[in-house]
Amino acid sequence: MTTDPYDVLIVGGGPAGSTLAWTLRNSGLNIAILDKATFPRDKICAGWVTPAVMEELELDLDDYQQGRTLQPVFGFRVSQIGKREIETRYSNEAPVSYSIRRCEFDHYLLERAKETADVELILGEKFKSMTKVDDHWLVNGTHKARLVVGAGGHFCPVVRAMGAKLGSSETIVAAQEIEFEMSPEQAAACPVEADVPELFFCEDLSGYGWVVRKDNFLNIGLGREDNHKLSEHVGVFRQQLVDSGKIPAETPLKFHGHAYILYPQATRPLLTD
Ligand SMILES: Cc1cc2nc3c(=O)[nH]c(=O)nc-3n(C[C@H](O)[C@H](O)[C@H](O)COP(=O)(O)OP(=O)(O)OC[C@H]3O[C@@H](n4cnc5c(N)ncnc54)[C@H](O)[C@@H]3O)c2cc1C
Repeated sequence: MTTDPYDVLIVGGGPAGSTLAWTLRNSGLNIAILDKATFPRDKICAGWVTPAVMEELELDLDDYQQGRTLQPVFGFRVSQIGKREIETRYSNEAPVSYSIRRCEFDHYLLERAKETADVELILGEKFKSMTKVDDHWLVNGTHKARLVVGAGGHFCPVVRAMGAKLGSSETIVAAQEIEFEMSPEQAAACPVEADVPELFFCEDLSGYGWVVRKDNFLNIGLGREDNHKLSEHVGVFRQQLVDSGKIPAETPLKFHGHAYILYPQATRPLLTD
């Protein structure tokens, strides 16, 4: 197949990839986004976004909340797991955060990029390889690009192709999480307030758990810098929340795992040829 190369091929259509494409919307560059998923897709995440991020994204909040969850957050309830809780309300007017659902948020940003930046979406295709051919890269043996950008998240395959040994030299935060819709009965019985997410620090301060309510959706998770016996920590945390009546007894036992790196601890290369 002989086609002109893309100026920029972005691998990963999450917030980073879609926002880069959108930011380049008036550049005249010929852009494509490749993602192994088809959208909408979910992403393991508490879905907690600060107003500074919304500003940076220039997100139209009125437009966004048409048919999507946008829960303003005015404070936090904080404790050590199982201990006394302290609620801090920062304001009743200006949200200090928003809770969103990643299946909606990421899809919205990707659609915005496609519509306003005329970006080509290559979805449902996994990045497998990139090879230098003359003055461009050949991705998956098919897509030609002058520049390839890795926006594939924690396990980004582009940075792997650049030689990074992910996980071997980086301290990761390992987390497990679940998001589900409560039944009307469960929602009525749930004391967690949507505008005051709850945070629960582990006794050794190596991590924390959270309960974030978004309408009738409940997002529960726990992350630790030390992933030793993570499932055990999560199990104890879940049971403690059930026993204290904060979450439904029917909350699934199996949480989904994922990881992330704290920015200053990332050792991956940022740029290559
Ligand atoms: C448990 C947990 C809770 C979190 N909570 C929060 C929070 O409350 N607030 C917050 O701001 N951040 C939170 N984060 C961090 C946040 O999720 C990430 O910082 C954010 O998703 C990074 O966005 P991204 O676009 O770089 O990558 P991602 O959102 O991970 O997107 C990467 C994309 O690349 C694609 N991809 C990956 N591999 C390939 C491949 N081989 N080929 C093709 N495509 C590929 C994926 O399908 C995906 O769509 C949390 C993270 C975790 C793990």
